[in-house]
Amino acid sequence: MRVLLIAPPGAGKGTQGALIAAHFVLPRIATGDLLREHVARQTELGRAVQQQLDGGGLVPDEIVVDMVLEAIMAAKAVGGGYVLDGIPRTMAQARATYLMSRGLGMTPNVALHLRADDSEVTRRLLARAAIERRSDDTEDVIRRRLALYHEVTHPILAWYAERGIVVSVDAMRPAEQVGREVLDALEKLSQVPEQDRRPVDLTSLGIAFGAAPTDADPTG
Ligand code: ADP
Repeated sequence: MRVLLIAPPGAGKGTQGALIAAHFVLPRIATGDLLREHVARQTELGRAVQQQLDGGGLVPDEIVVDMVLEAIMAAKAVGGGYVLDGIPRTMAQARATYLMSRGLGMTPNVALHLRADDSEVTRRLLARAAIERRSDDTEDVIRRRLALYHEVTHPILAWYAERGIVVSVDAMRPAEQVGREVLDALEKLSQVPEQDRRPVDLTSLGIAFGAAPTDADPTG
């Protein structure tokens, strides 16, 4: 199974992406993590992108697309599935990743959309900031990341919807509930045989950052 995640910052891409990767035994490719690693190691690439990361801006398309091409080739070598977290963020990235993954026989078959509103994701990111100290989890930078999400990332969903691969989940609820629904939806679609899936402990997701209060939609 090849899944990509589209969601605003703070909706739970990292948490749910890790869960999907663990359950279906897939490599997880998270562009934000890869970029932050470069910054931490102060590689040439890391020095080139630090300013964009700190300011909540987007790193140039070529940089992330090259990085992901390498990771998708590695994923192909270990079985052919993946979970993509953090890319595409622009229409140009969507086209570029589609074309290169098509060349490898590795196009995504699910675009998982996690829906959460701005006030909830801001609350979560500020809660995480108190624990994790990410340079971009300040109020101003969060506002900028959200604005970019609405302007350039969210519209890509229409493109995946046309291709009939969007699965949309209400991510306003506690992480374990969202996780259960995500895994149920993907299990229905997946061609991963049951014996090749790994049981995961969903209760441990509750301690993920800023677990939301349980006043969410009971029908969801
Ligand atoms: P979040 O979704 O919470 O903003 P990420 O960890 O996915 O967090 O990304 C952190 C930062 O890394 C982004 O604000 C951006 O600067 C950079 N980044 C990650 N992925 C991309 C991408 N596909 N294109 C451009 N910049 C990216």
